Amino acid sequence: MDAVSSHVPVSAQLFERAASVIPGGVNSPVRAFNSVGGTPRFIASANGYNLVDADGNSYIDLVCSWGPMILGHAHPAVVEAVQRAAVGGLSFGAPTEAEIELAEAIAARVDPVERVRLVNSGTEATMSAVRLARGYTGRSKIIKFSGCYHGHVDALLADAGSGVATLGLPTSPGVTGAQAGDTIVLPYNDLAAVEAAFAANPGQIACVITEAAAGNMGAVAPLPGFNAGLRKLTTDNGALLIMDEVMTGFRVSKAGWFGREGVAGDLYTFGKVMSGGLPAAAFGGRAEVMNHLAPLGPVYQAGTLSGNPVAVAAGLATLRTADDAVYAALDRNADQLGAILGKALTEAGVEHQVQFAGNMVSVFFADRPVTNYAEAKASQTWRFPAFFHALLDAGVYAPPSAFEAWFVSAALDDDAFDRIAAAAPAAAIAAAAATPEGSQA
Ligand SMILES: *Cc1c(COP(=O)(O)O)cnc(C)c1O
Repeated sequence: MDAVSSHVPVSAQLFERAASVIPGGVNSPVRAFNSVGGTPRFIASANGYNLVDADGNSYIDLVCSWGPMILGHAHPAVVEAVQRAAVGGLSFGAPTEAEIELAEAIAARVDPVERVRLVNSGTEATMSAVRLARGYTGRSKIIKFSGCYHGHVDALLADAGSGVATLGLPTSPGVTGAQAGDTIVLPYNDLAAVEAAFAANPGQIACVITEAAAGNMGAVAPLPGFNAGLRKLTTDNGALLIMDEVMTGFRVSKAGWFGREGVAGDLYTFGKVMSGGLPAAAFGGRAEVMNHLAPLGPVYQAGTLSGNPVAVAAGLATLRTADDAVYAALDRNADQLGAILGKALTEAGVEHQVQFAGNMVSVFFADRPVTNYAEAKASQTWRFPAFFHALLDAGVYAPPSAFEAWFVSAALDDDAFDRIAAAAPAAAIAAAAATPEGSQA
């Protein structure tokens, strides 16, 4: 056991046991704490903003299951809906009324979405949307942006954010040249590069897929005019625009990033918040495009558990509970979190940027705002482990990666913010004292 694990002996023991049966001891890479070092906390339970680990320690949760838990954990309305659904049967492999209600709720919130297909993960949603774009346009190539993460779809892993960025992995071993060869990877926020790619590949590009606001290289909002420029370039070139709102959807506003900016995509992908913490996701868009899906059209897409009644119940209850007051609280809480972190880092004299993409927050140890992945990678990420662990030791659970957004819930209260404010100064001092050599990454 290392020094860090000695005060979480149960988590340390569980991690060791997990590693003997689960690769790396985790079912999704960033959970393993590789880039920050130390022992991942095994979570026993959660309620509101509070996470409790297997050793009985409590943490203020600023990860929120990587976004979904906007209401906080175990919200009574969601738990009750899930319990009621479970008693009524776990899966039918046949349509239900609740699926219609969830699709209607999504379409009602996001204006450009006229048809919705439910799937089981954000990865499936983006994979299906890209397939549909290719089937619809009859073209092969796609454009994605460095540092954007769209799930672990083969064609979309190139230069991806999230765990691929956290672990500094080479581009996609296991992905064949054929799968990656049709993917054009461009710098985020660079419209000239998109224009040049269209010019170099006339009539060949099926779609541009972008995070509506990037959150998987840290929170990096689109520069003013970027998404509108993508809209124009795709339309002018007969390609589709896929707005990946798996992270931003139903979090950064009632209508996601679309609700903040109003730039319409042809296709949308959703996940995370829309299923309230259970495994469900969706893609949707214009009827004319979506109607190319089987059984109406030739583009195949299916799922044994798609529209699962328990997941749908959790999603519906979450969306129904997430009213204007919830979104106002999320915005307020993100502002307050950013202000606390910024103040502590300024007082500690460490160069930093507190960045927002709506109510997603990130801290970059950089001397100017980060607008793309190259700038994110050039930041002093080696300061992050010390910052992270000082917060964790003080009971504040931040994302264990310099390349992830921090997620607030509406459950955070004054007491939570008092504790975050009490923890922040020591964490900022630890970040200021960190050296590139001292990084555990
Ligand atoms: C999380 C995420 C995905 C992948 O969703 P999974 O449910 O993890 O497969 C896709 N796109 C974005 C923008 C995401 O944040």
